[in-house]
Amino acid sequence: MTKCVFCGKEESPYKGVHLIKNDGSTSFFCSSKCRRNALNLKRDKNKLKWTEAFRITRQRGIEKKNRDTESKAKKELKTEEKKEEVKESKK
Ligand SMILES: [Zn+2]
Repeated sequence: MTKCVFCGKEESPYKGVHLIKNDGSTSFFCSSKCRRNALNLKRDKNKLKWTEAFRITRQRGIEKKNRDTESKAKKELKTEEKKEEVKESKK
């Protein structure tokens, strides 16, 4: 499995295009979409939402996971506090 230079997707080396420049550097594009965006349209991969580079620069996945776990932990704490309050009020 080789990694696409543009989108960062792991893809079979038999699929897509391997571009070998005159200086010997190789770059693998998983699809024509990635190849066109990089070479013809000259788009910045850090500004496109569907690339891995964007996710890494904005740390989207990591932040979301952290937020979810934090909110869950807060909810659990709140429910525990409420339960304690109910117990105290009953006494
Ligand atoms: Zn790609």
